[in-house]
Amino acid sequence: MKDTLIKMLSSTGNEMQELLDEALRIKLKYVGNIVYCRGLLEYSNICRKSCYYCGVRSCNKNVERYTVTDDEVFEAVDLVMKYKYGSMVLQGGERNDKAFVEKITELLKKIKSLSHNKIGITLSFGEQTEETYRQWFSAGAHRYLLRIESSDIDLYHKIHPNDEKHSYHARLKAISLLRKTGYQVGTGVMIGLPFQTTDNLTDDLLFFRDHDIDMIGMGPYIEHEQTPLYQYRDSLLSPNERFELGLKMIAALRILMKDVNIAATTAMQTLNPRGREMAVLAGANIIMPNLTPLKYRENYLIYQNKPNIHEDTEISKTQLEKSLAKIDHCIGFEEWGDSQHFKNRQ
Ligand code: SAH
Repeated sequence: MKDTLIKMLSSTGNEMQELLDEALRIKLKYVGNIVYCRGLLEYSNICRKSCYYCGVRSCNKNVERYTVTDDEVFEAVDLVMKYKYGSMVLQGGERNDKAFVEKITELLKKIKSLSHNKIGITLSFGEQTEETYRQWFSAGAHRYLLRIESSDIDLYHKIHPNDEKHSYHARLKAISLLRKTGYQVGTGVMIGLPFQTTDNLTDDLLFFRDHDIDMIGMGPYIEHEQTPLYQYRDSLLSPNERFELGLKMIAALRILMKDVNIAATTAMQTLNPRGREMAVLAGANIIMPNLTPLKYRENYLIYQNKPNIHEDTEISKTQLEKSLAKIDHCIGFEEWGDSQHFKNRQ
C-alpha cells in the first residue's frame, strides 16, 4: 500500500489528473455530490500554546487577543439557521481553565436550545481532559477536530516547542479520548511543512486509516512572518507545488478511506482562489464558510494571506452555491452531514 500511495503523491501531469478523476469517481459512488457546510466561528485567539507554525501562538505579542461575546455567538447561530448550513464549528486557541471550559459548556447548551437541536456542533479547542471532553459532549457537541499536525514524532517535535505542553503522546492520547467519549473524530496534517518528506505524508494517510478516523482536514502549510518556522521559508515547496500536493493528498485519502468526511480547507483556498472547488473535485465533501465577525478576522491569522478577511457572508454563500453548481455539486442544506464512516462503524 505504501508504495502505491507514494506513487500517487509523486504523480504529475496526466497521471496526477487520473488520480484526481479516480478519487472523484469513488467519492460520488460512496458519499455522493453533496457538500456539507459548517459555519465556522473563530471563537477566540487566546492560546496557552506556542506552536512554531501558528501566527496566533502565545509568544506572538503583535496579536491583539479577543474572545467573541455570547451575543456574537448567537448571531453566528442565526446566520447558520438563515443560510440553512445545518452545522457549525467553534474553533479557537487552547485554554484549559475552568472559566473557559464552563463558558463553552454554557454556549453549547444555549446553541442547542436556540436552534431546537437543529444545528450539529463541531468543536476544535485543542487538547482537553477526558472530563472536559465528556462535559462538552453531554452539552451537545458531537464532532471534534484535533489535527495530529504530523504523525511523525520527530517532525512533530521539530514544529513544536520541546516541552510538556506540546507533547506528541499527549496529542495522541487526546485523540483516543475523543473516540472513547463518543465524538466523531476529526484529525489532519499540514502539507508542505519544512523538513517534511513524501514518506511522512504517506505515513500520515496510513495513520488516518489505522486510527479509523471519521473526518480529515488537511491543508498546505503557509508561512507566517511572526513565527519561528518562517526562517525555513526558502526551503519550502513553491505555493503551487504545495497546493497540488494538497490535492493529491485529498485524492489519495479518498481512495484509501472511501466513506470519510474530507474538508476542502481554507488553506487550499488561500493558495488558489478556486482551491475549495478543486479540492471538492479531488474528493473533499465538507466546506467551512467563515462566519466570524469581520472585526476579529485579522486577529485570527494562523497563517498569512488568509482570504475573506473583508468578505460579506451572504455574498460568499451565494457565490459558493453557484460555483459548486458549476461543478455538478450541491450543498446539503439543513443536514448535519455526519461522517458515513462513523455511521458505518456503529
Ligand atoms: N487550537 C486548536 C485549533 C488550531 S487552528 C487545536 O489545537 O486544534 C486549526 C489548524 O490550523 C491547526 O490544527 C493547524 O493544522 C492549522 N494551521 C496552523 N498554522 C498554520 C499555518 N501556518 N499554515 C497552515 N495551517 C496552519
